[in-house]
Amino acid sequence: TIEDANTFFHIYNQEMYYKKLNNVRLKNDLRKAVENKELYLVYQPKLDLKQKKIVALEALTRWKHPQIGSISPEFFIPIAENSNLINKIDKWVIKQVISELNKNDILKKYQKTISINLSPYDLKDNSLPIFLEELIEKEKINTNQIDFEITESVLLDSLSNELDNLNKLKELGFLISLDDFGKGYSSLSYLTKLPLDILKIDKSFIKNINFGSNKILIEKIIELSHQLNLKVVAEGVENKKEVEILQKLNCDFVQGYYYYRPMPLEEIARIIDRN
Ligand code: C2E
Ligand code: CA
Ligand code: CA
Ligand code: CA
Repeated sequence: TIEDANTFFHIYNQEMYYKKLNNVRLKNDLRKAVENKELYLVYQPKLDLKQKKIVALEALTRWKHPQIGSISPEFFIPIAENSNLINKIDKWVIKQVISELNKNDILKKYQKTISINLSPYDLKDNSLPIFLEELIEKEKINTNQIDFEITESVLLDSLSNELDNLNKLKELGFLISLDDFGKGYSSLSYLTKLPLDILKIDKSFIKNINFGSNKILIEKIIELSHQLNLKVVAEGVENKKEVEILQKLNCDFVQGYYYYRPMPLEEIARIIDRN
């Protein structure tokens, strides 16, 4: 579609631009972005596949650079990860999410689950569980309404410090989702080694649901997840056909442009009110 093409060219041009830009400058700019209030959040709903009701919202971070304009997280998250900024940014995200949602009725009245992305580098940070404990105390949040989306990482072996930290989050009552499953080096052993509640099938898999043996693979992943007591989210759902297939395959939740794009919280609040 034209919109996809626009997005593509936008990203493509940004990439060209960044290559020319001094990387040091972008790092420095990102360092100041939190203080300068250049980061903000958008939220994308997840719906249950039976009643098509919004059950959860995923917070996604945006950066409005004062000169360059909007910069995609696909670009700035890796920069943040390579420069020790990710811990600070994601802690900002967590605080911001809680404060925004507390102001609205979304946490208390509507009881929606909120998903927050964590980088593998966040799990290396031993101060994260303490930070969260203090935040729970201060904000009186129901930890079982907050879901941390983690990605597979070679760091997450069974004896790692990262796994210890993940288990601490689990003990605090937070939900844990495994994001991007099916992309890269997905290991089935993660499904039993990590303290998971939810599995998110990667959007590249959903896009190709009708190609080759993908449908069978997705069906078996869903079956296996259910046997392990995990719920399954399909991300990147863009059309009705994908929805129908996922329904047949017994998928629990869907998320994607077919239903909603990531949006500012005010828009979300209006939609939830009608939903
Ligand atoms: P993700 O966590 O896998 O998030 C899903 C991405 O897919 C989002 O891109 C979302 O806007 C996009 N998306 C949603 N529905 C569709 C669809 O139907 N079709 C397609 N093609 N795309 C869809 P976004 O917001 O650009 O974020 C990109 C990645 O940046 C995220 O991937 C996540 O890994 C990372 N990210 C974003 N915000 C944060 C954050 O606050 N902290 C950390 N650590 N990472 C973040
Ligand atoms: Ca995610
Ligand atoms: Ca994902
Ligand atoms: Ca991702």
